[in-house]
Amino acid sequence: MFRIGVHVSISNGFAEAIKLAKNIGCTCAQIFSHSPRSWSFTQVEKKEAETFKKRYLKENIKPIVVHESYLTNLATPKQEVYKKTMDAMKKEINMVALLGLKYLVIHPGAHLGAGEKKGLNQIIDSLNQLSDIINKKRVEVLLETTAGSGTNLGYNFEQLAYIIDNTDLPLGVTFDTCHVYAAGYNIATQKGLEETLEEFNNAVGLKRLKLIHLNDSLGELGSKLDRHEHIGMGEIGVDGFRRIINHESLRNVPMILETPFDERRTDIENIAVVKSLRED
Ligand code: MN
Ligand code: MN
Ligand code: ZN
Repeated sequence: MFRIGVHVSISNGFAEAIKLAKNIGCTCAQIFSHSPRSWSFTQVEKKEAETFKKRYLKENIKPIVVHESYLTNLATPKQEVYKKTMDAMKKEINMVALLGLKYLVIHPGAHLGAGEKKGLNQIIDSLNQLSDIINKKRVEVLLETTAGSGTNLGYNFEQLAYIIDNTDLPLGVTFDTCHVYAAGYNIATQKGLEETLEEFNNAVGLKRLKLIHLNDSLGELGSKLDRHEHIGMGEIGVDGFRRIINHESLRNVPMILETPFDERRTDIENIAVVKSLRED
């Protein structure tokens, strides 16, 4: 079954987020566990978690994945931020488990000038420190591919492979089409898509690909610009997405839209566009 969904708001509670996803026509979805621009987590009542879990089992919207907040940075050289990040990671992992979910999507981190190698090694060290709680809670962390803006790490598959190969966790990967394209992988052409997936498979392994963030890219190939565009309206384009959505290595991977909120198109319309490109 085709798993396509959007990022839905939890502003009316977790259980309501599932209703929202259902109304939009999602067959999978993404949420934040709390306000993504805040370090503080709201305590979830046991009853609400139970309602969420019940609804999650009932509805055919799977998986629902949790995306970490915007503030965390496992590669930061700033001690204060690092401490808060590790604390927030533990809380995120607990929230994922509390809601009966499995996947936590994280951005690897930004080294802020400390150097790529140092940043990557700190990410590895952090994930190894968290491995006990991650395993105990049966959570699977998905590293997201990044556009490589600023000092963000994870903009090439070798960096993701380096992290994966040096942690003892069964890490997965989220493939963000906007980020990958902006990072310089030309997934807009047939040849480029094949080469990119081959490179991904050689470095990371397609079996680790658990989620796709389906976003068109406002920025050009290699621009490192992390600006999402509506499906088909950006540099990847309609033909690019037709190939991505139907590719045999990708078509069974859940796809989440993180397209803009503006007057040009709604989430419902973006899902309709994606479905119109899907071939049986
Ligand atoms: Mn992300
Ligand atoms: Mn993304
Ligand atoms: Zn992005």
